[in-house]
Amino acid sequence: MQTLQVALPQRHYPIHIGPGVMDDASLLAPHIAGRQVMIVTNDAVAAWYLERLKATLAGYELAEVVLPDGEAAKTLDHVELIWDALLAAGFNRRATLIALGGGVVGDMTGFAAACYQRGVGFIQIPTTLLAQVDASVGGKTGVNHPRGKNMIGAFHQPRAVIVDTDTLATLPARELSAGLAEVIKYGLIHDIAFLDWLEVNMAALRRLETGPLSEAIRRSCEIKADIVVEDETEQGIRAHLNLGHTFGHAIETAMGYGSWLHGEAVGAGMVMAAGLSQRLGWIDEASFERVERVVEAAGLPRHMPSAINADRFLSLMHLDKKVFDARLRLILLKPLGQACITDEVGESAVRELLEGWPR
Ligand code: NAD
Ligand code: MG
Repeated sequence: MQTLQVALPQRHYPIHIGPGVMDDASLLAPHIAGRQVMIVTNDAVAAWYLERLKATLAGYELAEVVLPDGEAAKTLDHVELIWDALLAAGFNRRATLIALGGGVVGDMTGFAAACYQRGVGFIQIPTTLLAQVDASVGGKTGVNHPRGKNMIGAFHQPRAVIVDTDTLATLPARELSAGLAEVIKYGLIHDIAFLDWLEVNMAALRRLETGPLSEAIRRSCEIKADIVVEDETEQGIRAHLNLGHTFGHAIETAMGYGSWLHGEAVGAGMVMAAGLSQRLGWIDEASFERVERVVEAAGLPRHMPSAINADRFLSLMHLDKKVFDARLRLILLKPLGQACITDEVGESAVRELLEGWPR
C-alpha cells in the first residue's frame, strides 16, 4: 500500500492506494466520526462491491443508497434521495457518507455531504481510474443542471480517499483507457520524468499490474494536489489541468455526449494541442511523436473524428468556457513536460492545424 498525504491549508487527509485496501477497516475507522455511516453507490458498482464494503464496515449503524448508473443520473433529484434517506434513518451531524463508485457517484455524494446539516464528513472509495486520479482530488462536488454540466455544486474535501486498485479488474477496458488519458496529462503538463516512466510502464498499467498501477495513481494524485493547493481559486496554473480539454470538449459535443468518453476526447485533444505546440515551434517533431505514441499506447484515439470539419470544430471551441473575448485561450506545451496558457494563438493557426489534420 502507498499513502499520500494531501496537505490543504484547512485540513490534511490521506489517500491510501493498493490492492484490497477496501477490506481494511483500520484505514476507514480514523475518518468516521460517529457510528452512522451511509454508503452511496450505483447499481452497476453495487453488484460488484457493495457487500464487500458492508462487510468491512460491520459494527457501524449502516444505511445505503443505490442510485441508477450513468452521467444522466447526476441530478439534484438523486441528491435529494440521499438526503431523504439520511433523514429517514435519523442520521445526525456526526454521520459519515462514503462514495463507492466512479466520478458520478463521488461528485453527488460529496455534494450531498457538503449540504446535509450544513456539512458532514465523507470518504471517497473511487472505483474508476478516472475517479482515482482526478475526480477524487480537489474537493469539487456537484451535479448537472439541465442547462449545463456541473453547474450546481460546492467545494467539500473528503476525510480520506481509499483507492483499491483491485476494483479496476471489473472496469471495462475503454473506461480504463479514458482514465489513462488524465494520467498522461499529468506527465505532459508537469513532470517529464513521469512521462518517461509512463512510456515504459504503459503495457503493465493496461495489464493492471498492481505495483505500477499504485505508483501511477499516487503520482497523478500528487501532481493534481500540488497544482490545486498552489491555485485553489483557479486564477492561474490550475488551468493547466485542462490540457487537451478545449479540443476534447469540441469532440465530445460534436459527436454527441456519450459516444466518445471524456478521456478518449481528451486523448485526441492532447495530440492536437501537441500538434499546435509543434507548429508554434514550442516542442520539436520528436516530442510531438512521443505524445502521439503514448496516447495510442494507452488505447486512446489519436485523431479527432474525420466527420467534424474545421468550421464546426472552431465554433465548438469558441463555446468552451475557457474562451474570453472571442479569443481562444489554450493550454499548450512549452516544452514537453510543461504546460503554458496562451491567448496569443490566432484562429488561423488553429484552422491550419485542423485542415491539415491528421498530419
Ligand atoms: P462514471 O462514474 O460514470 O463511471 C464510468 C462507468 O463505470 C459507469 O458505468 C460506472 O457504473 C462504471 N464503474 C465504476 N466503477 C466500476 C468498476 N470498478 N467496475 C465496473 N464498472 C465500474 O464516470 P467516471 O469516468 O468515473 O467519472 C466521470 C464523472 O466525474 C463526470 O460526471 C465528471 O464531471 C466527474 N469529474 C469530476 C471531477 C472533480 O474534480 N470533481 C473531475 C473529473 C471528472
Ligand atoms: Mg478531464
